[in-house]
Amino acid sequence: MIDNPLLNNANTLPRWSDIDATHVVAAIEFLLEKSRYEIKQRLNKGVPFTWENFAQPLEELADELNSAWAPISHLHGVKNSPELRAEYEKAQQQLTAYSTEMGQNNELYQAWQSLADSPEFNELTMAQRKMVNNELRDFTLAGVTLADDKKVIYGELKQRLSELTTNFSNNVLDATQAWFKHLPDATRLVGIPATVLPTLAQAAKARDLEGYALTLDFPCYLPVIQYCDDRELREEVYVAFSTRASKEGPGQSQWDNDDNMVAILSARQQLAQLLGFDSYAHRSLATKMADTPAEVMAFLQQLASSSLPVAQKDLAQLTAFAKANYGVSELQAWDVPYYSEKLREQEFSISPQELRPWFPADKVIAGMFEITARLYDVTISADTSVELYHDDVTFYRISRDGKELASFYLDAYAREHKRGGAWMADCRNRIKRSDGSMQLPTAFLTCNFTPPTEGVPALLTHDEVTTLFHEFGHGLHHMLTQVETMSVAGISGVAWDAVELPSQFMENWCWQPEGLALISGHYETGEALPELKLQRLLAAKNFQSGLQMARQLEFSWFDMQIHLRKDLDSAVKIQQVLAEVRDEVAVIVPPEFNCFQNSFGHIFAGGYAAGYYSYKWAEVLSSDAFARFEEEGIFEGRAAKDFLEQILEQGGSREALDCFIAFRGRPPTVDALLRHSGIAKEEAA
Ligand code: ZN
Repeated sequence: MIDNPLLNNANTLPRWSDIDATHVVAAIEFLLEKSRYEIKQRLNKGVPFTWENFAQPLEELADELNSAWAPISHLHGVKNSPELRAEYEKAQQQLTAYSTEMGQNNELYQAWQSLADSPEFNELTMAQRKMVNNELRDFTLAGVTLADDKKVIYGELKQRLSELTTNFSNNVLDATQAWFKHLPDATRLVGIPATVLPTLAQAAKARDLEGYALTLDFPCYLPVIQYCDDRELREEVYVAFSTRASKEGPGQSQWDNDDNMVAILSARQQLAQLLGFDSYAHRSLATKMADTPAEVMAFLQQLASSSLPVAQKDLAQLTAFAKANYGVSELQAWDVPYYSEKLREQEFSISPQELRPWFPADKVIAGMFEITARLYDVTISADTSVELYHDDVTFYRISRDGKELASFYLDAYAREHKRGGAWMADCRNRIKRSDGSMQLPTAFLTCNFTPPTEGVPALLTHDEVTTLFHEFGHGLHHMLTQVETMSVAGISGVAWDAVELPSQFMENWCWQPEGLALISGHYETGEALPELKLQRLLAAKNFQSGLQMARQLEFSWFDMQIHLRKDLDSAVKIQQVLAEVRDEVAVIVPPEFNCFQNSFGHIFAGGYAAGYYSYKWAEVLSSDAFARFEEEGIFEGRAAKDFLEQILEQGGSREALDCFIAFRGRPPTVDALLRHSGIAKEEAA
């Protein structure tokens, strides 16, 4: 076991060249056994449970496990292979079983409780107290404190929910995959960008057909509904898409999610009530920054009252445009995205592709580091002496006054065996050990940009630039933390509806002329982004922002309502709630047959139940935070120092609202978001 490279990693980076799939299960099994044994030893010793003899050793065990698992999980994402996948899945099952077992361990819970009740507790640091309180909260939410008979019910409900939600997603997946429309040639596909046609041809080929196939996968559905000139075809695709996994869907009753939705809501309500909450919405908010459903509803109401008039105007403009230019007298649901794209082209005449030459990846990355350096007084430099897991990757160190703070791997380009999308993950966490040493945080930053080609560097769209900033914002939260208790350092322990604050905040620099000047320059001439293109880019940002806001509010409102109500014992009643919500907030009311809820996986099968509002909640925080920079100067003043000290460095060691107030001097308000998204007018200077 000694020579397993996934073990004995304290204060060091992964030894990539030594790691292979055969180490995975052995290392995880060893560490889980070690953890079980050590925890048992400590519980057997009994009281007093102190930070030194109990909490700190458990933190270090968790760190050891994380340091073994993080590189595996990362390789699984970015350098996948059949061998690694098989070992990864085995190890993951063991990790899940371990965490369930620990979550149900009453003795362990009692030990944490006894530490919380001890006189020592009040002498612990704020971070340590927060960590203990989080532990207690999570044990309670996992049902540890319930009487034995109720524990059984709790377990059954959890099991049932797991089956129901899996069933829900499988139905959506199967219903999505079952439908396709075969077209022998491209005559009906006029209007769809040429770059999309190979995808449609591929879909036909996969079904042993000639020509093209339209499917309900998003990369196919979206370009068809946005660009296809053939109105009947758009209608057909829209109907299929919006009735997936419902009785209304063509030949879809076998995947009907009606009963699943009812059963999921009912099981969640029972679970919440078992734990002493009034509703599942209340249960969901127990771990979030928002305190009560009433607070969330008031928040949504406030956004609605400002946004709906603007959304109405957006719709009126679109309707008039379609009528004047295309003679369409009544806009149908399948017309809205199509004419919106036409209007966008006419208004802003800017395409994502045409800006690429001004955003070469090297320039963008260097500019992003420069912005970060100015804001937080740090230096970011590449270290080529560090071992990497792939040639595409660059390793960087962040330091201040010559003292290292953190490091990260940047893996920017798409390649085979790498999962799509962009994300930040931790590789090493900040932790002060009982031997006095400090492990510095290390992050994985992963994107999927188009790689450079012979003679041409990687050129990014503005969207990709924004994505990079977003993930780097998460990265800075993880890396600039000064907390020494791992479980609440960086993004760990941060309330779920506040965790997007640093990431969305960072995006603002991609929309500021001062920021853009640092991250752009023509890859051949170095020429700055032309003023006209810059103006169009900035103007296009808020296209139809009223309509977009209304849509997000409709989803969030519906999500909150169905998790508050306790009488939803049929799909018809769920549909009624949706109709009521639409009466309140929808500007474009979809046709009767639309059953989007039957495929709304975020809330029925994902982690967003009674939490969909978080998207807007975090945007409010990030906009309001950035507004202080607008007031004091983007790079001047104390704003950046305060953002660093009160938010980034604090991690999860303090309540998100307290962090925000310490930075802003007051609780958040929605004003800045409404202004930034063009819903409220800019104040005259
Ligand atoms: Zn994010």
